Amino acid sequence: MEDNELKFTCPDCKDTRLECCEDGHYASEVTNIDKDGDFDYGEIKASGTVDRFQCLNCGYVLKDENEENIIDEEEVVEWLKENCKQPEGHIDSRYTDDNADQFENE
Ligand SMILES: [Zn+2]
Repeated sequence: MEDNELKFTCPDCKDTRLECCEDGHYASEVTNIDKDGDFDYGEIKASGTVDRFQCLNCGYVLKDENEENIIDEEEVVEWLKENCKQPEGHIDSRYTDDNADQFENE
């Protein structure tokens, strides 16, 4: 099953976390607050429509060939196939692009 997963890799910062942003309001139950000020949240419910998909780390926004924000899940799939190198099967997390050089030199 995992072989079917598409991996997002940010072209700018190489982060692999993709964020879906909506233009509406977010609502989430606060499930726990500890004395240090750490909040736990329940499931986030969004009421708007998708505004953009972006890199969670640097905010790189996925755009189509017309420089329009990609808001369609199918387009995200196409974008990932075209712009993100997909690993073949399981790859040891040490063998990312960032570390590839040092392993080649050993
Ligand atoms: Zn990024």
